[in-house]
Amino acid sequence: MSDADSTDEFEPVQVFETTNMDLRPGSDDCYKCSTCDTSCPVAEVDDEFPGPKFQGPEQWRLKRKEGHDIDDSIKGCSNCMRCDDACPSSVPLSQMHNTARGEYVESQRFGREALAALRRGEPREALSIVRDGREGFVERVRNRVLANYRASAWLASKVPWLANRAMNFGPARWLMEETLGVTKEREFPEFADQTFREWWVERGGAHVENPDKQVAYFHGCYSNFNTPEVAKAMVHVFEEFGYEVLVPPQKCSGTPMFANGMLTDARRHAVTNVENLAAAIENGADIVASCTSCSMALRQEYPELFDLDGIDSVAAHTYEAVEYLRLHEDLEGALAEAEVDASEFAYHAPCHARNQGLDRQAIELFADLDGATVEDVGDSCSGISGTYGWKEEKYDYSMEIGEEMFEHMESATGETGMTECPTCAMQMEHGTGYEIRHPLELLEGALVDDTVSSA
Ligand code: SF4
Ligand code: SF4
Repeated sequence: MSDADSTDEFEPVQVFETTNMDLRPGSDDCYKCSTCDTSCPVAEVDDEFPGPKFQGPEQWRLKRKEGHDIDDSIKGCSNCMRCDDACPSSVPLSQMHNTARGEYVESQRFGREALAALRRGEPREALSIVRDGREGFVERVRNRVLANYRASAWLASKVPWLANRAMNFGPARWLMEETLGVTKEREFPEFADQTFREWWVERGGAHVENPDKQVAYFHGCYSNFNTPEVAKAMVHVFEEFGYEVLVPPQKCSGTPMFANGMLTDARRHAVTNVENLAAAIENGADIVASCTSCSMALRQEYPELFDLDGIDSVAAHTYEAVEYLRLHEDLEGALAEAEVDASEFAYHAPCHARNQGLDRQAIELFADLDGATVEDVGDSCSGISGTYGWKEEKYDYSMEIGEEMFEHMESATGETGMTECPTCAMQMEHGTGYEIRHPLELLEGALVDDTVSSA
């Protein structure tokens, strides 16, 4: 284990060879073309958000050359990562944003500063720090609750019937908005009666043993606690192709923590994930994820932000689940011989799928599947971006960003949505009322026998 592994504190990794975590070489690659700004969905609707060029290279230069504090507009970035994809000069924009956001959030820990003032024997100073930081404190608590979804979902999964009623009880939603700033406009997602991991244990684990074809499944929080049907579909489809599926111990991928600047929390989760996934890789498995934000985190954000033994190996061996099958099996061939009951889907490619080059995957994949029509609803952002659209002050922006997608969904022939991202699915359902499916569920319907998919 390296020194960096032995502490929970977030420490930026050294990304560029000649510097000590100095992202300036990346900022120097920026030639101010503003392509990133025109691709930013938040800058389009929020006049106060200065856009990715400022958040990335400009702020970085200012900070390094003139010692500026991180500007608080960094909180407005939803971490959709569309600017990364847009930049023709490969400026590491999202890495800059994540790092700046982490630094900004650390600088807002007024409790520590107040304590230090008390220790110095300066109670008046301590009081004034607390007074100034009170507003930020509530926001910080809210963001921590949203970012640590795994903890609240774990608790809710112990009494799902109660959690489902309590969290969607009107007055409770009103109270959440008034006290914490979590919008009351959205319905909380339902928790499943049985989590995926409980199902996996009850089932007796893998039904296929095959040391030559093993995948370790990173199911993430949502497929475990809310949509185990997606995780089960993933298992059934991979077993159909003769894979032995492993389900290693794991925590949150860290995606909601990156977006809220909680890099110390994210690192703690990454330590567990990397340790277990790297061990599976050592034993010959590759890693597959059914959520495109989880695969994005393991592939790109982990090595950009953390220095942990095995992290590069995890990044190099991680795939989105359907992508993995397309690379290793004749998936299109199998689908061309299959058929499903007539069904029409309005498909939205999540921004994080786009960043991995997977935005056309579902459309291409199901093109020859008899019975199914999958229609692309365009390249706009859904607007929810994980926790962004759950924040009371961002809700209206989130819906304004999503408007184009809602309209395209409604003009598509299908009245069922499809996407790989669980929070995009929430937004699609919220904006249109459609039921939303994951491509793995359609694959399961097409390729897996009913008697197998019920086991
Ligand atoms: S797209 Fe890239 S090069 Fe152009 S302004 Fe943005 S960061 Fe700079
Ligand atoms: S990550 Fe998304 S919201 Fe943030 S600056 Fe880039 S494009 Fe804008």
